[in-house]
Amino acid sequence: MKQIAIYGKGGIGKSTITANLSAALGCEGRRVMQIGCDPKQDSTRLLMGGQMTGTVLDCLRKGEEVKFDEIVGRGYGEVLCVEAGGPEPGVGCAGRGIMATLEVLRKLGLYDGQLDFILYDVLGDVVCGGFAMPMRRGFADEVYIVTSGEYMALYAANNICRGLVSFSSRGGARLGGIIGNGRGLPDEEQTIAAFARGVGAEMVAFVPRSSLVQEGERAGQTVVEYAPESSQAQVYRELARILAEGQGGVVPRPLTPSELEEIVRRTQ
Ligand code: ADP
Ligand code: MG
Repeated sequence: MKQIAIYGKGGIGKSTITANLSAALGCEGRRVMQIGCDPKQDSTRLLMGGQMTGTVLDCLRKGEEVKFDEIVGRGYGEVLCVEAGGPEPGVGCAGRGIMATLEVLRKLGLYDGQLDFILYDVLGDVVCGGFAMPMRRGFADEVYIVTSGEYMALYAANNICRGLVSFSSRGGARLGGIIGNGRGLPDEEQTIAAFARGVGAEMVAFVPRSSLVQEGERAGQTVVEYAPESSQAQVYRELARILAEGQGGVVPRPLTPSELEEIVRRTQ
């Protein structure tokens, strides 16, 4: 079983990419589970025909024992879909919700080896407590960071690298690579590639902007399902192949604030 975590700033395109990766792997007959670790709880929506699944935190709040069927949806490509969910705004802690979710999944036997891939889709704006959980020993083997060429997205990506460094001495995940998700900025691919080189990793893919993403969303589908013959679907399938073959990754070398600014300035 291979475990992969997709991290990145909120709104950068993590769920779109993760759901397309799950769809691509699921279509090839791999047994996949996708775990949404974002209070937005829409990670698996495009695998579930646009439906939102019940979240683990909502179930836990009811105080009864959580049952498999209440929290695990079966989506496109037979992908098992789980959403950690979020706390009441202003009351609970989202990070703690992720820890509780992974504990529930372990108790339900989902880590017992019958799956080929577990994909975590994780909000990486703050790499604290629970949001760092998937990078701890025993969870993701490799972390991939989604970023655009925008300063704030690269800033978050650099912070995620810092988180990876602090877990690296304790058997935590390694950085598999950087995934560019284009916003249409000039020289964006070069900016992201320069960032990747700067932290000692590779840009493993650059996903272009495509209106097929929105068209698919309106149909409640990933691009892999909605437009399987498109070049955009091919980009996601190729990325899935790269991730499946990932050879362990590296411990990143985070940039200093001035190095980060230099990369953004040089290419924009
Ligand atoms: P995140 O999970 O990081 O918060 P999402 O995957 O939900 O981000 O993406 C945010 C929005 O950006 C989505 O509604 C989607 O329509 C759009 N989007 C993401 N990737 C692309 C892309 N390659 N081309 C066009 N739109 C995209
Ligand atoms: Mg998301």
